[in-house]
Formats: sequence, C-alpha cells, structure tokens
Amino acid sequence: MHHFDPSVEIQDYLVFGEYGDVNPSITDSSTYTFLNPNTMKELFDHEVEGCFLYSRHWNPTNKYLADALAKLEDAEAAIVTGSGMSAIACSVLQLCECGDEIISSRTIYGGTYAFFKNFLPRHSINVKFVNIQNLDDVKNAVTNKTKIIYTETISNPLLEIADLPKLGRIADDHNIKLMVDNTFSPIFITPLHLGAHIVIHSLTKFINGTSDCVAGCVCSSKEFIDQLMDINSGAAMLLGPVLDSHRAASILKNLHSLHIRVEKHSKNAQYLAESFEKLGLTVFYPGLKSHKGHTLVTELMNDGFGYGGMLAIDAGDAETADKLMAEMQFAKVGYLAVSLGYFKTLFSSPGHSTSSEIPEEERAAMGLSEGLVRISIGLDNNIEKTFFRIKKCLISVGLIKE
Ligand SMILES: *Cc1c(COP(=O)(O)O)cnc(C)c1O
Repeated sequence: MHHFDPSVEIQDYLVFGEYGDVNPSITDSSTYTFLNPNTMKELFDHEVEGCFLYSRHWNPTNKYLADALAKLEDAEAAIVTGSGMSAIACSVLQLCECGDEIISSRTIYGGTYAFFKNFLPRHSINVKFVNIQNLDDVKNAVTNKTKIIYTETISNPLLEIADLPKLGRIADDHNIKLMVDNTFSPIFITPLHLGAHIVIHSLTKFINGTSDCVAGCVCSSKEFIDQLMDINSGAAMLLGPVLDSHRAASILKNLHSLHIRVEKHSKNAQYLAESFEKLGLTVFYPGLKSHKGHTLVTELMNDGFGYGGMLAIDAGDAETADKLMAEMQFAKVGYLAVSLGYFKTLFSSPGHSTSSEIPEEERAAMGLSEGLVRISIGLDNNIEKTFFRIKKCLISVGLIKE
C-alpha cells in the first residue's frame, strides 16, 4: 500500500477565474489577440508563460483540466485530447518511426488492439503481443528497435494486474518507455510512482463518470508533453485531436468527486464480488483473495480507495451470458452497454475482439470464457438490494439454484 492521496493534490489545485469565479470562465475562442507582434513571433519559437495562440494548440480551459490531471497522476505535465484513443495514438506516433517496434500486452482495450494490430503495421511500426504476466516473454521480445512497452494497469476483461515496477525496470534497462493505460484504476494506482514513463487515460470512463462525452489525456514528463505539443513536430498539435473547452470544463468539475465515486464503486464491487463468490460463481475481482493479482495489486495501490469498480463473472457460454444480461437490464440492475465508470451499472460481454491472439487452450487456462460478463458497478446506495435483484436473474437463467 502507498499513502499517496491524489485527491488531496486535486483539492489543493486552486484556480482563480477571471472574476474570481470558482469555476474558471470557459474560454470560448479558437484564437487569441496579440497586442504586440513580437510576442506572436516568440510564441512560435517557444512557450511564453500565460500566452495562448490558437485553441488546437492550447486553450486556457483545457490547460486547467490538464494541470489537474497532472496532479492526479503526480506528473510533471499533461495534455487533454478529444478521446482516449487519440491520447494513445498521438503518444505512440510521437515515439515511433518507420521500422520501430512496440511490445504490447495482448489483453488490452479492443480499439488499442485494432490500432496496434491493423493500423500501425501500415506505417511499418510493428507490435509484438505478449503475455504481460510473463516477464521473460517481455524481456525476450526487446530488440534494438523497441521503443515502447505498452500495458494496461488492470487488464480487460480478466482484470489481471501488470507488475509495473518490474516492467519499468525492463524499460529502464533498455532505455525505452513504459506506457501505461490507467483507465481502469484512476486514483487508486499511480503508475508514474511505480516505474511508468507515460500514463494515458480515457477520461470517458471513471474520471468523467457521467457517460456524456468522450475525452482522453496523457500524463508524463514536461519534456514529452512539450514534444507532443510542439507547433512544428508534435503529434497532438499536428494530428489535431483537440478537446472542446466546454467539455474540459465539465470534466474538471467531475474530477473533483472522483475520489468519492471510486471509493463507492469499489465498496459496491467488493460486496458483489464476495457475494457472487459465496454463491459458487467464477468471479474475477482484484479485491478477492482468490484473484491471481490480489497480493500484487495490494502492494501497488494507494490506500483508501478500494480495488476499483470493475468485475467479471463467468456465465459459462455466450448464450447464458446474453440471457443473463437481458434479465439484469429488465430487473433494473443497470444497462446492457459497452463502456464503464458510469454512475449506473453497465454490463457487456467482452466477446473475443482482443483474445484472437491468444491460443484456444491458453484462453481456457486464463479463464477467458465466451460466457464472460464484464460489469462496471454503479454508485447504488443499496447494494444489498442490487445483489438480490442479480441473484434472481442468476436463478432465472439457471446459473444457481434457488
Ligand atoms: C475506452 C477505453 C479506451 C479508449 O478511450 P476512448 O475515450 O473511447 O477513445 C482506451 N483504453 C481503455 C482501457 C478503455 O476502456
């Protein structure tokens, strides 16, 4: 356990708006006037403190959000982007050129997997997919072309825990970057403290928490963020994945309740995971002692936020999984929908989008079943009642006896 409390850093991040407004005014402009032509010339050469040029580059409202997210991850700097995918794509394209290689965990978000598997090879950037749990596989995959080791802190959908300190050491030994997607574990794991060099988030999920927009961020060294934002050579500047300032303002407000939400998501998920396990179901939740990564995640996490809001149960086969989800939606447990981190419970069947790299027998050994149901637990105030509703659904589809 670590005693770093990101919520204190965020709370201490005070912004004084133009008129002392506690929520700083939203900058509703794409471009900025210069009283002196020389200042504009200077800004093209290097950053000028407090000066803004054009909103695809920086916007004051986006800067407020980025600075707050840097506090969350204890990073020197951060940028915000129009999606989690663009945060990933820009960071990768900033670091890699034609001929370079990436070593990636094979259990990653479907969009990232498709980007790595189908898109990057068209630009001669090749990705080696490995079992990130096997550190020898990772070490053996490194060549002098490798630029990035890529992983999610908590993997999708089995919620395996990446050993960030050991992966960070491998990266350091070869002078390459450990890039970590921390979307499933905001505030309760701080990858930059554990050996990561670049952290990305899909803000769309827990950090925003209201499923009303898509956004992302990159948190890293000031050097890397400056590279991404360089007017002449930065991927985040030149590919243009800009976040709208109105959205940045609303995400910043939601960020301030992240610590309370994650605590509640975790508490509810822990309760449900333990209750499902007592019923004899196969449950994947890092807060369970039976979970393979339980000891490791307990070592890595920040104290006081729990083990997160994501859990998965195995319904055996795809048909039963579908039936169960339909029943759960009918019983008002939540919505059958992709995505996560919403105040209501969301569930979906991860299918095999990202598992196609994994041989059949290994899939079985991992517990990666066709019948897996991934659940993002909501902020239900009466979780016992929710459990009772789910239990009825489990009985109705024949997974447990009455
Ligand atoms: C959703 C998600 C992404 C992609 O983020 P978008 O905001 O949808 O572009 C990346 N990684 C993980 C783990 C995600 O859940």
